Amino acid sequence: MIIGSHVKMGAPDFVAGSVKEALGYGANALMLYTGAPQNTRRRPVEELHIPEARQLMAENGIAPEHLVVHAPYLINPANSVKPEVAELAVEFLQSEIERTAAIGARYIVLHPGSYTTTDMETGIATVIAQLNRLPEIPAGIVICLETMAGKGSEVGYRFEQLQDILSGLREPEHFGVCFDTCHTHDAGYDLDDFDGVLAEFDRIIGLDRLKVVHLNDSKNERGARKDRHANIGEGKIGFEILNRIAHHPQFVTTPVILETPYVDDKPPYGREIAMLKAGGM
Ligand code: FE
Ligand code: FE
Ligand code: ZN
Repeated sequence: MIIGSHVKMGAPDFVAGSVKEALGYGANALMLYTGAPQNTRRRPVEELHIPEARQLMAENGIAPEHLVVHAPYLINPANSVKPEVAELAVEFLQSEIERTAAIGARYIVLHPGSYTTTDMETGIATVIAQLNRLPEIPAGIVICLETMAGKGSEVGYRFEQLQDILSGLREPEHFGVCFDTCHTHDAGYDLDDFDGVLAEFDRIIGLDRLKVVHLNDSKNERGARKDRHANIGEGKIGFEILNRIAHHPQFVTTPVILETPYVDDKPPYGREIAMLKAGGM
């Protein structure tokens, strides 16, 4: 099982600090934002303690592709109402891709965005047009479109919508999918029949595209389209189903990343990872 969580990335040790945080949870994978997810201020990569981070990872058996980067959620490539916003988003996404490559990571998770006041079809066409504006994507980098909850005007809460985007891309080999359990449950997929959901994913998108899993419980009923994460076993999905997904043979080499909420201002990840590890016995 390749399991980890969202971790912090900041002073003083930056990416090396992120790796140390993950190791403290007993994780062998991690996910980070390269800076505050709500703004575009970023430090130069030379200041991110990358060689130290990579050495720590190597010493502790964390493969480079098990460090996942999440693009900031202010990037909205589906916004056709304010093209200048979308343009800035693509420029910033390009710099995030370069940072991902500099860290030595492979996967960068991206929300397809929200169509705001247009419609789903326009939103999908806009995502395709924006992603096709990216200059050449570095070798080995895979942008993983995340399965969304369908909150508001979110694009990509049905596998069909993600496949429509993927099939319009100029460099499809540089794109994959991040499967979020809270989001798919909120979008209406029945995770109790996970093999059925995977079969549907395979039929519509292809399982070879599924590169990253976000393992979260959900505060809401299936189909609620809300996107509120709950701690593992404390939401409407429940431990049994999430544990089955974490240990699914499909994900033996897939990074499984927790994005569950802090409890009393403390990260729950060490405890949740231990619960899931124990659940595999
Ligand atoms: Fe996300
Ligand atoms: Fe997620
Ligand atoms: Zn979410």
